[in-house]
Order: sequence, then C-alpha cells, then structure tokens
Amino acid sequence: MSSNTVIVVGAGVIGASIAYHLASQGAEVLLVDAALPGFGATRHSFGWIGRSPGDVSPAGELRALGRLHWERLRKEVPELDVHWCGAVVWGEFFSGDDAVLSDDAAVREPNLVSPPSRSEFRSDDGWLDATSATESLIRAAQQAGAKVRLGTPVTRLVRVDDGTVVGVMLGSETLTASTVVVAAGTGSTALCASAGFVLPMVSSPSVMVRLQAPVGIVTGIVANDRFEARQSRDGMVLMPVDHDGESSMAALMRIGEAAQRLFVESFTGAAQTRLVGVDIGWRPMLADGDPSVGYTGVPGLYVAVAHPGVTLASVIGDAVADEILTHETRAELALFQPR
Ligand SMILES: Cc1cc2nc3c(=O)[nH]c(=O)nc-3n(C[C@H](O)[C@H](O)[C@H](O)COP(=O)(O)OP(=O)(O)OC[C@H]3O[C@@H](n4cnc5c(N)ncnc54)[C@H](O)[C@@H]3O)c2cc1C
Repeated sequence: MSSNTVIVVGAGVIGASIAYHLASQGAEVLLVDAALPGFGATRHSFGWIGRSPGDVSPAGELRALGRLHWERLRKEVPELDVHWCGAVVWGEFFSGDDAVLSDDAAVREPNLVSPPSRSEFRSDDGWLDATSATESLIRAAQQAGAKVRLGTPVTRLVRVDDGTVVGVMLGSETLTASTVVVAAGTGSTALCASAGFVLPMVSSPSVMVRLQAPVGIVTGIVANDRFEARQSRDGMVLMPVDHDGESSMAALMRIGEAAQRLFVESFTGAAQTRLVGVDIGWRPMLADGDPSVGYTGVPGLYVAVAHPGVTLASVIGDAVADEILTHETRAELALFQPR
C-alpha cells in the first residue's frame, strides 16, 4: 500500500474537490459514491459563494478563502462556470454595522419592482451550479488519474486489530488505502460510527424552489427579508425557502406557488414565470455549526464535513490534500479539527 493511497467516500462538491486536489498532486485516489455526483445536498444547493464582509470569525475567514480558491480553481479547471455577479442584499442580510450601504439597487437590479432605498452590494460574491461544478471537478480528477466508482455504497469502514482504518467495504468487496476520507455529507456520521468515531451531525433541511422565468430578469444574487433569488442564463430561477416541517407533496407545492407569486410580484417582466420544481435538501451540519475537517484520532480516518459546503469546497479540497500529502496541519483548518 503506497503512503498516498486515498479513498474519498462521497462525490458531493466537497469530496469531488478533495479528489481533484489529491489526484492533481500525484496521489492515488479512488472516489466512491452510493449514487451519482452531487446527489446529496449538493444538487439542492443555491450555490452562493460568499460571506458577510463583517464576519471576521475563523469560519468567516475560511469562507473568504473559499471565494479566492474558487477563482484559482476556475483557472485550473476552465469548464468550471462561476458567475462573479455580486449580491444585492438588504434587511436581515446586511453585514452589520460595517455594511457599506448605497442607493443603487435599482441600477444593479433594474427589474426590482420596489428597490430598497439602501442596500449593500457584495461585489466579491458569486454563484455556481453546484452539481455541474462537482461533475467538472470529478472529470478533472479523472484526467489527473483518479478512479471513480458510482452507485456503490460504502457499507462500513474496515479496521485492523490496533484500530487503524485501512479501507472500506463496498458490499462484500474490501478496498484498502492508507487514508480514508469521509466526505459523505449526512451519511458521514454512520460511516464514522463504524470505525468508533462520533461525528455529532444535526443535518438541517431547506426547501429549494425552481422557477422558469423569462431570461434576464435577475442580474446577480438578490437576498432580503422576503426572498433569495438568482437566475441562470437559461432563465432558471432558484429560490431557497426555510423548511418548516412540511412533508406532503401538497404542502411543498404550496411553498413553491407562494415563492412563484413572490417572484412575480417582486420583478417586472416576470408574469410568465412557471413553477418547475420544489424539493427538500438536507444540509450536512455539525452541532456547533463549524466545519469538521481533519484527522479524527482514529488512525487512517480523515473527515471533511462543512457548511456552507459550496463556498468552502474549494479551500477545503486544497487544504485537505495538503494535509494528507504533507502530514502537516494547515493553519486555516487548525480550529476545525474533528473533536
Ligand atoms: C437548499 C440548500 C441551499 C444551499 N445553499 C448553499 C449556498 O448558497 N452556498 C453554499 O455554500 N452552500 C449551500 N448549501 C449547502 C451545500 O449545498 C452543502 O454544504 C454541500 O453541498 C455539502 O456537500 P458535501 O459534498 O459535503 O455533501 P453531499 O453533497 O451531501 O455529498 C455527500 C455524498 O456522499 C454520498 N454518500 C453518503 N453516504 C455514503 C456511503 N455510505 N457510501 C458512499 N457514498 C455515500 C452521497 O450519495 C452524496 O453524494 C445549501 C444546501 C441546501 C440543501
């Protein structure tokens, strides 16, 4: 077994980024997923890359690095389609006392029916389609030599007598590696438990509403007390909505119809907007809200679970690969070691 043989469990945006960074630095990588790339939380994501400028907490600083690393990654993986469009925010989204406010929301978002008199423009923010980005990173990882197995759930981690994790079980098949990275989103807790490591997850649900609107209604990201929205070039609008325990299809459709009405009321030219989908995504989150990224104390077992995972996937991929290949803790992850 080479010292740089790594199995990454989970082909969401975080696992894909880790696999890409490891493979591009010469590690022997196998990326395994129970389903298809991005089929966990990633496919439900709003894909907003950003942070509140006033947030100087370590987690806030990590988000700022996430933004920078996406920019770098886009140069390495040209097919990554990151839209650095900025975000017009107001109300509960203000950055706090440090927010720089202006009166240009109507210029930045000319289709807003009632632009606020004061808003904040976060010029550094952007968005990406998280599933496409995940697929792009996996293709880039494969080009760098990574192997990928999809539709194959890891049933448990494999340990030897001294407790070291030496691989994974895929049904009756055992695969070995010097390091197993669990980046399995909400599935991470069960996998870690199979190696005796407790990962206290409090996965949090959120609803994603998809609307088909005339092209060019929303310019960038718009977020305020009433809604968040952004629009792709093909006209698709995404609006994340809080989940309040709704579980029936009828209740979810009502959420979607309410979001559609709100969108039509909020933007001129949006009357023809159609509701095309409503779904619930489970955000992998730790009990304290912070990322949990690093070696676990169980030899051979590394964990990478973080929210907001799209913003952070770029920097986490880079830092995790570095930690595994150099055996040195990266400064930006030092405060987020699994406990
Ligand atoms: C509605 C919504 C909006 C969001 N908006 C944003 C946003 O604007 N910005 C942002 O940064 N983040 C956002 N997030 C959060 C972000 O989407 C997640 O943090 C991120 O996608 C998590 O990625 P991941 O790779 O850790 O997990 P996942 O995408 O869940 O991937 C985990 C993968 O592991 C696989 N897996 C699980 N168990 C096993 C097993 N036993 N064997 C093999 N494979 C397994 C799953 O199939 C899955 O593909 C949002 C999330 C939701 C739900």
